[in-house]
Amino acid sequence: MYSQRMDHLPPYLFARIDELKGEKIRQGVDVIDLGVGDPDLPTPEHIVDALCTAARDPKNHHYPSYTGMLAYREAVAEWYSGRFGVDLAPKTEVLALIGSKEGIAHIPEAFVNPGDYVLAADPGYPVYKTSTLFAEGKIHAMPLTAENGFLPVLDDIPADVATQAKLIFINYPNNPTAAIAPKSFFAEVVDFARDNGIVVVHDNAYSEITFDGYTAPSFLEVDGAMEVGIEMHSLSKTYNMTGWRIGMACGNPEIIAGLGRVKTNIDSGAFDAIQHAGITALTGPQDCVRDACRIYEERRDVLVKGLSEMGFEVSSPKATFYVWMAVDDSMKFAAELLDQAGIVATPGVGFGTHGDGYVRFAITRSVERIEEAVGRMREMNL
Ligand SMILES: *Cc1c(COP(=O)(O)O)cnc(C)c1O
Repeated sequence: MYSQRMDHLPPYLFARIDELKGEKIRQGVDVIDLGVGDPDLPTPEHIVDALCTAARDPKNHHYPSYTGMLAYREAVAEWYSGRFGVDLAPKTEVLALIGSKEGIAHIPEAFVNPGDYVLAADPGYPVYKTSTLFAEGKIHAMPLTAENGFLPVLDDIPADVATQAKLIFINYPNNPTAAIAPKSFFAEVVDFARDNGIVVVHDNAYSEITFDGYTAPSFLEVDGAMEVGIEMHSLSKTYNMTGWRIGMACGNPEIIAGLGRVKTNIDSGAFDAIQHAGITALTGPQDCVRDACRIYEERRDVLVKGLSEMGFEVSSPKATFYVWMAVDDSMKFAAELLDQAGIVATPGVGFGTHGDGYVRFAITRSVERIEEAVGRMREMNL
């Protein structure tokens, strides 16, 4: 019944974990879910208010524009300029997305011919791989290892793969490893992409979720980046708006136009009322973002301290709401955590074979629940 393409899709790990979690809850277990990376904090009130007002205005009840309202694209450009010092032309260098996952899922359609290589990190956000498979491209996995600070080693990519590659996905601050990248890495990617004629897609979903005084850069800050790439960004993680489905693609106008052409033929844009709320988010007070980071930082400290005291070697991430920890066998570890302690963590192998040997904890639960989880793990004698 289903296409052969569907056979190539990896099982969506989170769906399987949800099943196991559901079973535990039915058995009456008080499950602590540190699995899926979805903020538990609410969307700030002024953004919700903006949506309510805009939703009541009949002007917003029609098909939106394909590219996003000009006012939304201008707000994105203004935010990029203030936050990163990157100048974007709203009409040609900014495109509204129905969440950045949507942009990531569609971009290979515009640039990848059947059999072309796409370079993506392993472990990595699963959509880079599945979108490549839908476009009938081939993934070349770039291993992320602790020795390399979880940055891909571009010199390790075979020359014939590099010349046949059409697209490279990068993502820093990184999900799932929580690693950050120096701007010098982005500069290397620009050179590599220019030498090999590759489109760069930097996924910057976590640029605002940073700690200890660290500020994450935009890929577009680097010299030459605008010539070779775009950045996918999103309001999801910054403003606790995962359910709203609003993001943006920014950068090279030809690449933006290619993605725009695909989207025009598939979707009809993001609800205008949500774009109005997005404008409020991007142009309004930003203390809500700093407050959220402080909350994540406290949770991170509790979890990292607890795990370290149990003897795990775990570093304290400078960004994202994930803690990435080395374990012997990621599937076995995650299964035992759920079985014996009612804690959901994501086995690293779900993000790629090089993720085996790690688990990912999402610190998207209250500090009390994280303390409770640490207490339960202590009793397990891991
Ligand atoms: C959450 C996430 C996204 C997707 O966010 P949207 O809600 O679709 O904007 C994209 N990339 C990474 C790495 C993520 O973790």
